This record gives sequence, C-alpha cells and structure tokens, in this order.
Amino acid sequence: MVELQQAQMLIALQNVTKVYSMGKVDVAALNGVNLSIRDGELISIMGPSGSGKSTLMNVIGCLDVPTSGRYVLEEQEVGFLGDNRLAEIRNRKIGFVFQNSDLVLQAQTVEDEIKFGPLNFGLKHYLLEKRSNEIVDIFKMSSYKNDHPYALSGGQRQRVAIAANLSLNPDLLLLDEPTTGQDTDYLNTTMQILCHKISNDNKTLIFSSHNAGLVLRYADRVLILNRGKLAFDGSIDKFIDSHASTFIQ
Ligand code: ADP
Ligand code: MG
Repeated sequence: MVELQQAQMLIALQNVTKVYSMGKVDVAALNGVNLSIRDGELISIMGPSGSGKSTLMNVIGCLDVPTSGRYVLEEQEVGFLGDNRLAEIRNRKIGFVFQNSDLVLQAQTVEDEIKFGPLNFGLKHYLLEKRSNEIVDIFKMSSYKNDHPYALSGGQRQRVAIAANLSLNPDLLLLDEPTTGQDTDYLNTTMQILCHKISNDNKTLIFSSHNAGLVLRYADRVLILNRGKLAFDGSIDKFIDSHASTFIQ
C-alpha cells in the first residue's frame, strides 16, 4: 500500500448528485457524494442493490454525467457538459470492466483482444507485441492466447476483458461486480494478479462487490453507499472495526 497522504490526487467528486426522472418520480441515484481518489488505492464500493454503486462508477469513469456537482481530475476541474476532455480522459486514463464485460469481447483470438485497444491508439508494432506478450504472461493466458474468446470459460473471458483493459495502461481501472456468475477460485486468482499489477504500477483500482471476502482480501479502502449517499468511507481496518459484529458469527 502506498502512503496515501503523499500519493497524488487522481479524481475528486464534489457534492455529486445524479437524479433519474422516472415519469413523475425522481430517483436520486447519487445524493451529495464527496470523494477523493488517489494514485495507488485499491477501493471497494459496497452497498445493497440499487444503492448507486454502478451509477457512481459510471460517473467516476466519465461514462455518465451527473445532474450537479464537480469532477476534478489531477486537481483540474472538468466540466461535464460540452467538455471534450471527457472522452479523452475516458479513453486515455480510465479502463472500465462492466458487469458482463465478457459480452463485449470482439476479436477472433485472446491475443488480438489484448492488442485491440493499443492498436487503435496507434502503438508501434514492436511495442504492441511486447505489451501483448507481457500482459498474456502476467495474466497466465499463454495456453489459450490463440483461442477464440467465446471458446473460453466465463472466468477466462472475464480475465481477458480485464487484461484487455490493462493493455491500455490506464491510471484507473473500474470493475463493476466482478463476482457475478464467476467461479470463485478462478476469480480469486484473477484478482490476485490484477491487484499485484495495479499496486506495482502505482495505479488505482475501484471494484464494486457484494462479496465481503473479496473486499477484505483485496481492498485498502471501502466505500459504502446507501440510497445514493456515501454512508461510509474508510480504510479496511476501520471497516472491519465498525462492522465487526457482521464478521463475528
Ligand atoms: P447498484 O449498482 O448499487 O445496484 P444503480 O447505480 O444501478 O445501483 O442504481 C441506483 C438507482 O438508480 C436505482 O434506484 C436504479 O433503479 C436507478 N437507476 C440506475 N440507472 C438508471 C437509469 N438508466 N434510469 C433510471 N433509473 C436508473
Ligand atoms: Mg450495479
């Protein structure tokens, strides 16, 4: 874990609200959220279904525009409406693995899937090979690197989706509910490899999960959402202290 006080500020949300209009009813998916995210953090977002986890990740990942509030990237404010830096931030700095991320795999082989992003960003051929080999190696995918992604197991496809995001070397990777429908042992190994790489590179990971085991194993910091409000924001130790009765059964 990095010394967080000294770590560089990556993203800050200030008083962020997101309201969805459902006919006559307004739903505040996020309600006055204040949050600072620093380089090198491993953060988990928890909370019941419908508490705003995906909305928060979408806002952090510049996939969704809040109704009000401020988004500060590396200490510079980014305007949500009409700011063409948003797409740039999303493409260059942030990776996003959706809940059913394996459904967006699009190449004919695992290796091509890994190369897809960097190729689109114009990485030179020899660097592309090097980057792809490194990623295949780190994520232990060499035995299936020439296979079609859809010939793989769900866990392998999820690993490919994560690895394909990391091949773009993002500063921040967002992972929405990686546990959904996954084999626990395989997911654990994927998370181990991922967190090790993220920490080594001083990058930042935010994953949402209902799975306390996963959170305890891999997060340094926990955010808990309740009806769109940030109900808890603290270190994993503080999380265990304040939720001890949940774990002692
Ligand atoms: P979680 O990921 O914690 O399950 P979400 O962020 O998906 O929660 O949803 C938070 C709230 O916002 C829920 O009440 C949900 O119904 C509502 N919501 C999310 N996305 C939309 C949308 N596109 N349109 C309308 N309401 C939405
Ligand atoms: Mg969700």
